[in-house]
Amino acid sequence: TKTNAQQYVDGVFLKLKEKNAHQIEFIQAAEEIFISLVPVFEQHPEYIQHNILERIIEPDRIISFRVAWQDDQNQVQVNRGYRVQYNNVIGPYKGGLRFHPTVNESIMKFLAFEQIFKNALTGQAIGGGKGGSDFNPKGKSDAEIMRFCQAFMTELYRYVGPDVDVPAGDIGVGAREIGYLWGQYKRIRGAYEAGVLTGKKPGYGGSLGRKEATGYGLVYFVEEMLREAKQSFINQKVVVSGSGNVAIYAIEKAQHFGAKVVACSDSSGYIYDPEGIDLKIVKELKEVQGKRIKEYVTHRPNATYTEGCDGIWSIPCDIALPCATQNEINGEQARTLIANGVKVVAEGANMPSNLDAINEFLASDVLFGPGKAANAGGVAVSALEMAQNSGRNYWSEQEVDSKLHDIMKSIFNESSEAAKKYGYAGNLVVGSNIAGFIKVANGMLVEGV
Ligand code: GLU
Repeated sequence: TKTNAQQYVDGVFLKLKEKNAHQIEFIQAAEEIFISLVPVFEQHPEYIQHNILERIIEPDRIISFRVAWQDDQNQVQVNRGYRVQYNNVIGPYKGGLRFHPTVNESIMKFLAFEQIFKNALTGQAIGGGKGGSDFNPKGKSDAEIMRFCQAFMTELYRYVGPDVDVPAGDIGVGAREIGYLWGQYKRIRGAYEAGVLTGKKPGYGGSLGRKEATGYGLVYFVEEMLREAKQSFINQKVVVSGSGNVAIYAIEKAQHFGAKVVACSDSSGYIYDPEGIDLKIVKELKEVQGKRIKEYVTHRPNATYTEGCDGIWSIPCDIALPCATQNEINGEQARTLIANGVKVVAEGANMPSNLDAINEFLASDVLFGPGKAANAGGVAVSALEMAQNSGRNYWSEQEVDSKLHDIMKSIFNESSEAAKKYGYAGNLVVGSNIAGFIKVANGMLVEGV
């Protein structure tokens, strides 16, 4: 005997699976959210009546386009570009661009779908979107990156704008790429519409604190989780996966709060430094020289490098911060973390834990911070960048950071309150999904069909 709400959610999910067969990541992200929403539909029949769930899982539109560009050997290369404009009830479509060979429609849709709820949680006026390309930036020269970005924007410009859709960075897209994309947009439009992209360089349309925002925000979020458990970062052993923008600034802030970070990784393998990572070396290798994390051990005799990424989760730690990519923690790795005594897991990446892993964490005493709440600091400061662009002014680093801190605290409180209200106290997965969903769903009711 299933409730009405359960039947409704099951029905929409079944249809979604049929329509989107083979889109594994998209179905995975949808399933996690759908399960959380059953208690909401139980209390809000008006959402069922207006078929909000089936409407919200169908993107407003998916744009895909050819990107042809010339490499350094004068060969013409062809990639596929995407922009998923998912939902603009709360504000212009907003979300990053990912340049990575694994990019396909399923990955784009899962990221854009999660972005709707994440962005709603920030309390800023931003809707949900995502884009990118299967272009592989690894090994490309600076000139090739520039030509690719220009070719990409030559197609994308007609679909974006400061009040329409505002892309930013994600994996493979940082300040350099945003700079080239911005230059091309400005050239084509013939106007200084700085708010069309975020993650620009400070002083050239960009906000101070944007580069650090996702990592710092993640640690601010964990600070709230720890505070509620009457604990702190001091002397906690932390494992961080990844060594990009999110990982580096999560490590920096965690160290600043007194934690000992002993490991990080890239897509080839991970380093373990029992005395605590020397972040200056990591920054020099990754941000300046563009080298692999492997090189770290040549500077630190007591550190070790291990090929492959899976083993990083067998390092005993108090706090695990997956900051690399989707599905980097499965059920078995989750069980290993739990057996080794992990107390907190919080996601800096998007969907790094699969459903099995999430269920393991929730069934244990581990405090679990889901990505769409814990990593929302990046897009939150993107929204602050848009606000500065609209006002044609710049805020101090301190002002941006204090706003970020407040936003992360309020995301934690709202998620925690929503979980309590719907009978899932302590479950931030359910809490953040519900809190984000209700904001969007109510907006959809207001707008009409
Ligand atoms: N790519 C980031 C995310 O996953 C940031 C997006 C943005 O700043 O628009 O949230």
